[in-house]
Amino acid sequence: MIKGSTRLVAIIGAPVAQVKSPENFNAAFERLRSDSAMIAMDIAPEGVEDFLSLARRWKNLDGFVVTIPHKQAVAAGVDSITPRAALLGAANVVRRNADGTLAGDMLDGLGFVRAARNNGFEPSGRQALLIGCGGAGSAIAHALCEAGVRELAIVDADTMRAERLAGLLRGEFPAVEIVTQIGDPARFDLVVNATPLGMKDGDPLPLADAALTLLKPTTHVADVVTSPEVTPFLTAARARGLSIQTGPEMAKAQLSLLGAHMGVLAAET
Ligand code: NAD
Repeated sequence: MIKGSTRLVAIIGAPVAQVKSPENFNAAFERLRSDSAMIAMDIAPEGVEDFLSLARRWKNLDGFVVTIPHKQAVAAGVDSITPRAALLGAANVVRRNADGTLAGDMLDGLGFVRAARNNGFEPSGRQALLIGCGGAGSAIAHALCEAGVRELAIVDADTMRAERLAGLLRGEFPAVEIVTQIGDPARFDLVVNATPLGMKDGDPLPLADAALTLLKPTTHVADVVTSPEVTPFLTAARARGLSIQTGPEMAKAQLSLLGAHMGVLAAET
C-alpha cells in the first residue's frame, strides 16, 4: 500500500502500459517489507525537461528508470552521468541525490553480461557477434568490451550506426578487435540479437538460417526481445542444441543493479 511515508521511484517512458518494472520492483519491495513503491509515468517527449525539473524538487522520489523514447533526452538533461552513459549518450536509470541533483547511468549492458554469467557464459577472452546496435545493443557492446571479449563483431541494418559505434568502442577499448562484418560465423562463442526482430509474427530471423547452422555446438545464443520470452531465433538455436538466454533473463538480472543505483535495493537482491 502506498502511504504518506512511502519512498517512491518511477519508470518514465511513452507509452508505459507494457513495462514490467513496476510489477518486478513492487514485488521486491513487498518481499523485503520495504516502504517503497514504483509508479509508471507516461511522459510526452516535450515534457521530459519539465519532469527533470520537478524530480529535483520531489523530495520523496529516490530515482527513476528510463525507457523508450527518453533515454537520450535524460542523459542530456541530468546533472551528472557515468562515463559509459556519456559515451553511449543514453541513460536508463537516474538517482535523485539528497541535494536534489540527478545522477544517470546506463545499465542495460551490465544486466546482459550478468545474465550471461548466470547462464555460465563468461565473456572474457571470447569472440562475440552482436546484431543490432541501437539503445540496448550499443550498451551490450560496451559491456562486452568492458568484460574483456577478444573480438566483437557488430552489425546493423543501419551500417552507419554500426560504424559509428565501432569507432567509439575502438577508441575506448583498443585491446578488443572490433569489426563490422559477420565473416565466418563458426568462430563466435556468443551471438546476440539486439534488434526488435522476433517481437512480431512473421519477422525474419536476425541471423539467416544458413549462418545459424554454421555456429559451433558450444555457442551461447541470446536475445534481448522480452515478448515472446522465447523468440523464434532462440527456438531455432535451441533446436540445434545451443544454449540460449532470453530477454526477460536480461531484464531480471538488471533489476537489482537499477535498484542499487537508485539506493532502494541491494546490488545482489
Ligand atoms: P533501437 O531501435 O534503439 O535499436 C534497434 C536496432 O536494430 C536499430 O539500430 C536498427 O537499425 C536495428 N535493426 C532493425 N532491424 C534489423 C535487421 N533486420 N538487421 C540488423 N539490424 C536491425 O531499439 P532498442 O531500444 O535497442 O530495443 C531493441 C529491442 O531490445 C527491443 O525489442 C526492446 O524491447 C529490447 N530491450 C530489451 C531489454 C531487456 O532488458 N531485455 C532492455 C532494453 C531493450
